[in-house]
Amino acid sequence: DDIEDDIEEEVVTTTTKKLQEAAIHLPEDSREHLNLVFLGHVDAGKSTLSGSIMVLTGQVDEHTLAKYEREAKEHHRESWIFAYIMDTSEEERAKGKTVEVGRAHFETEKKRYTILDAPGHRNYVPNMIIGAAQADIGILVISAKKGEFEAGVDGGQTIEHARLAKMIGIKQLIVLINKMDEPTVKWSKERYTEITDKLNTHLKKCGWAAKDYQFIPGSGFSTLNIRDPLKPNICEWYQGPSLIQALDILPPFERNLTSGLRIPITTSYKERGIVNVIGKVESGTISVGQQVYIMPGKTKVEVLSLTGDVSSFRTCRPGENITITLKGIEDESIRPGSVISEIQKPVAVVNEIEAILYILDLPNERKIVTADFTAVFHAHTAVEDVKVKSLIATIDMKTNKELKQKPAFVKVGEAVKCRLLLGRSVCIEEFEMNPQLSRFTLRDSSKTIAFGKVTSIGKKAKEAL
Ligand code: GDP
Repeated sequence: DDIEDDIEEEVVTTTTKKLQEAAIHLPEDSREHLNLVFLGHVDAGKSTLSGSIMVLTGQVDEHTLAKYEREAKEHHRESWIFAYIMDTSEEERAKGKTVEVGRAHFETEKKRYTILDAPGHRNYVPNMIIGAAQADIGILVISAKKGEFEAGVDGGQTIEHARLAKMIGIKQLIVLINKMDEPTVKWSKERYTEITDKLNTHLKKCGWAAKDYQFIPGSGFSTLNIRDPLKPNICEWYQGPSLIQALDILPPFERNLTSGLRIPITTSYKERGIVNVIGKVESGTISVGQQVYIMPGKTKVEVLSLTGDVSSFRTCRPGENITITLKGIEDESIRPGSVISEIQKPVAVVNEIEAILYILDLPNERKIVTADFTAVFHAHTAVEDVKVKSLIATIDMKTNKELKQKPAFVKVGEAVKCRLLLGRSVCIEEFEMNPQLSRFTLRDSSKTIAFGKVTSIGKKAKEAL
């Protein structure tokens, strides 16, 4: 046993040294990284578009795509090609299921991108929220096809998605007017203007300022105006950028560098005696050699290396998805919901919060939410039982003003400020302090019941920081 321990210690020491030495010579990938989410009515063309982007940017070749298509057909899931491109497991594919938030990556010369959430079959509103809550930019896909645009807007998901995207905190929206190649559309300027005029009115009503969204005509299916700009023989009236050009030329995304380092841990594992964790940098920066806390518990560790999807880093900024190797911890079984945190500014750990809930849906037999309502609380990677302790006031969603004090209940479509009691303490922050760490969802029997944000963690918790 002693000999084995000695060997393991030597392996760890050598690996640690190698990682430290390698970090000194790291090339930096200075390209910005953006997280995208596709929104829009069912059949607007989100899956097709996502597949086209993956092919056009060289992530999947035509041959592989054809293979995916064949596989999807074998399982009678033709419209779910995209789920095949995302990093889902065989088992999930066979069931036609996708993971909570599937991911796919692509890159251009200017930027690196992650597509969050496979659209595919999960087009209904509550599930779109999980992906959207982590996204920087929303791509709202609209079908220009006769009848389809109208169905998406009148009682469809188009406007609902635009409104929720705003509420969740997505800063920029690119509205792709898709299927412009369709025989009923044929790149008609009149149809495009009719659609954009109507959407302008709706988007303003949802709280979108004109500077925060733009329209682009295109066709995911025929890949027109997706990567390469339109040729005049296809469409002579549009001179703007293609979809990917528009993403590439967006000004650098404003990141949260002031709230202190926060990385919710999604996975942890041990390799050659060294603990690795995976997570997204939500705020602050992290560097090789830095000492950080794993919260809750204040376990002090040192960062040995930072590895992204395509390169390693010396320093990582928010928005980056990375694998971190750690020194100072031997047990890889890190509790889900743990957050890598700055030592000088650790994240709060609390079991009671004040929050605003927006009720999206309710489990079968329930029609209302009252005090004592129970559900499962999901914030970043944390999952806990939760109970509504009291309802404080109903909230006007547009103005955020309090309407009715101490309501007895709230219904679907309403927003309420309330106190929530959690089964165990979680790492969480107030919206004003750190929006990324304040957003959560309430779920029950695989339904998303509510979307929420933390308004207060309480005086005691703040004093303890
Ligand atoms: P999703 O539900 O939004 O993911 O939509 P899909 O990508 O599954 O597409 C729905 C249908 O629209 C499919 O039959 C596609 O072939 C078709 N479609 C998608 N994009 C285009 C396009 O650019 N032009 C045309 N004409 N049809 C499209």
